[in-house]
Amino acid sequence: MKVTFIRPNIFDDRLASAMEVLAFAILKALTPPDVETVLYDERLEPIPYSEDTDLVAMTVETFTARRAYQIADRYRCRGIKVVMGGFHPSMVPDEAALFADAVVIGDAESVWGEIISDARRQTLKPVYRGDDQRGLDGVRFDRSIFAGKRYAPMSLVQWSRGCRFNCSFCSIRAFYGSSVRRRPIPEIVAEIERLGRRPILFVDDNLFVDVENAKALMRALIPLRIKWCCQVSIDVACEPDLLDLMRRSGCVTALIGFESLEPESLTLMKKRWNLKWIDYATAISRFRDAGIMLWGAFVLGWDQDSPDIFDRTVEFAIRHKLAVAGFNILMPTPGTRLYEELRSEGRLIYDRWWVDPRYRYGEAVFVPRNMTADQFTEGCFRALKEFSSWRSILHRAMDPSTVLRSPMHMLIYSLVNVRLRSEVHRKQFAPFGAQDDMDPFERIQAKRLHLGMVSA
Ligand code: SF4
Repeated sequence: MKVTFIRPNIFDDRLASAMEVLAFAILKALTPPDVETVLYDERLEPIPYSEDTDLVAMTVETFTARRAYQIADRYRCRGIKVVMGGFHPSMVPDEAALFADAVVIGDAESVWGEIISDARRQTLKPVYRGDDQRGLDGVRFDRSIFAGKRYAPMSLVQWSRGCRFNCSFCSIRAFYGSSVRRRPIPEIVAEIERLGRRPILFVDDNLFVDVENAKALMRALIPLRIKWCCQVSIDVACEPDLLDLMRRSGCVTALIGFESLEPESLTLMKKRWNLKWIDYATAISRFRDAGIMLWGAFVLGWDQDSPDIFDRTVEFAIRHKLAVAGFNILMPTPGTRLYEELRSEGRLIYDRWWVDPRYRYGEAVFVPRNMTADQFTEGCFRALKEFSSWRSILHRAMDPSTVLRSPMHMLIYSLVNVRLRSEVHRKQFAPFGAQDDMDPFERIQAKRLHLGMVSA
């Protein structure tokens, strides 16, 4: 038996490099040794559809859903079974089931063995439900599945899953619920030791689960003498000991979800706690004093935002010399409270924007109360262009406390900024999926017509 793992791209194009997809290393480790496996990451390579396989397993995000459905269709036309898992199929399993023989809701690892057995017997079930309370002790990773791929020279490690907060636009809570599960720290240390000297990216949605555990992790990292990056909530800045441990254990970059400069918008997204303990300028200066470069994430287009929010936010990010920043157009993703609110109020321009052939990347999918859809779309694009201009990149690089602190800091800063600069223009206004492949929903309609299930 042979399993083909696929990571679809948003568009049918290639990147110079990409981050590994940790989920495939977990599934590879859980796959019986007599099952052949191969991975195709569409961000790096085209998919060889004619290659023989018995089962295709895809991880699908909302942004890659349209492309995933097109890919699935190509395989299923040849009678090859397709199983889909990940955030998007977990949130809209009925939609994914139109394009897959089996859909996994939740984490796939608890049901992967069953899926393989069922696939061997040709008795795949339409739905598998992962156990989202299963402990993370003993999770194994087989990274041999990444061999020979042009992945970024950085190893991904996961300590925890879930987040203790509940922001209205975020899929994390919708997927993991209120629980936060952690792997034992000795297992993290052993894994990092096996990975060698490459920089580590902790993929946890918020590495700051609680003070004592976070401190224990940092202390355990110090002897490893590694460089690492992570995502944390802003309240880390209120813990001087923790910041110091981050610095001493080799933290180079931290992504912080600032989201908005507007207290009212933070209230709207249920993230007012961002300003509860510390103001943004003080938090930034504390990270800077610890020598940690900041990646600021902003989400723009809340109902309280006025049309000047874009320019004010990018000006703030450049003035405070954030090493990197994202100015994300507010996208309601299925499963979140935000999506349900906008849909129930009838405010979505495209109900299922992720599969709508009219939708283009970076466009507004709803109209905020204080601006037009065009102002919304253009404001975010303008902020991205301004932040990634050469003038801005040079200005932000002149920071002796962070970017100029070491060759490693400078290398990461340069690589990430040049990469994001090229992405801004490559992605904006591009249609989702491959234009040569048929619209997945049209294809389904055509199939039903052919089978006489519907009339034309
Ligand atoms: S803090 Fe970040 S990961 Fe946690 S719910 Fe909010 S946006 Fe999501």
